Amino acid sequence: MDLRETPLAALDAAARTRLSQDAAVEVTLRSGTTLMYRNVGGQIVVDGDMLLGRSEDAAQVLSRLDKAPAGSLGTQSLSRFAAGGGNWANKTVPYFWKQGALSATQAAAVNAAVERWNAQAGTTLRWVWNPNAANKVEFVVGGGGCGSSYVGSIGGTQPLTIAANCFNNSTLIHEMGHAAGFHHEHQRCDRDNYITVGSAYVGDTTNFGKTCNAYTHGPYDYDSVMNYFPPYIYARSQPVGPYNGSPANLGKVSELSRGDLFALQTIYPGGTTPPPSGGTTYTGTLNSGYSTVQPGSSGFSYAGGTLKGSLTGPAGSDFDLYLQRWSGSAWGTVAQSTSPGNTETVSFAAGAGTYRWYIYSYSGSGTYSLAETK
Ligand SMILES: [Zn+2]
Repeated sequence: MDLRETPLAALDAAARTRLSQDAAVEVTLRSGTTLMYRNVGGQIVVDGDMLLGRSEDAAQVLSRLDKAPAGSLGTQSLSRFAAGGGNWANKTVPYFWKQGALSATQAAAVNAAVERWNAQAGTTLRWVWNPNAANKVEFVVGGGGCGSSYVGSIGGTQPLTIAANCFNNSTLIHEMGHAAGFHHEHQRCDRDNYITVGSAYVGDTTNFGKTCNAYTHGPYDYDSVMNYFPPYIYARSQPVGPYNGSPANLGKVSELSRGDLFALQTIYPGGTTPPPSGGTTYTGTLNSGYSTVQPGSSGFSYAGGTLKGSLTGPAGSDFDLYLQRWSGSAWGTVAQSTSPGNTETVSFAAGAGTYRWYIYSYSGSGTYSLAETK
């Protein structure tokens, strides 16, 4: 539907109905921008899981977008926020769910995700149970993919929908990220330098297009919880330009990354983010082609749980990181991160045992830093 030829106000009843009811809709706004969306469960969905408004209000939603200045698609909904522009008041996202709407297991999963978010984000942006707030997020169980959410606060009560089988930290914190104001990392304008869209989805610009009117904070972040995962997207074997995180982690994370926290602090400035608990940093120097182990050749004993190491080698180098476990007679690699860059992150669900970090310089010499969290 081309609103440059026929303005919204002049659309006939049948065309208006199609805007609200067609499974997939493509409209060209007066600015010339083409917008594609789906009507799913009574909501207008763009980019896979981001909501623009209720389908029955499609004409009003499009009218708002149609009036936006050329080159932008409105002040919210399609844009991650500019620095300082996050729009939840008091650095708080009030949330609730209706009594009986979630099973005990689902409620426990949301509680765990909120607890994880708040532990990581500190006072930057907190999720607080408050069914009486004027503007708030309502957790609901629903279909149409794993989850969906508006981007940022839209005023009033806004749904955050999770499918019954998707109550896990990775889905919940991803959708909470949208509600906070995050767009998809894999839809950044510069994403082609870092990822490729799976061949089955490359033509699906409704869900996998680039969003060049969104704000970006920091370099491409492979560790971001706002990435999709294979088979939808893949890390490029040779990324072009600087990046954060590790290509091997793409789509595997279930919490806010350092890059996500940086972006959150940028759009909601003034809060404090606690350092990761239990952290230890090892440093040393390594020549090209050589390897070393930390914290020493005999390793350390570990009771079990997530074991994470983030390695930063000298600028321009290619340092790789391996996690090794003692079998009783030999060291064996249980996890590794071997991107062509100088930063690597390994995150491993470790059982009880003896472990050590093995650091290898594929190319380059100099000082490295390995941050370990248990
Ligand atoms: Zn999403």
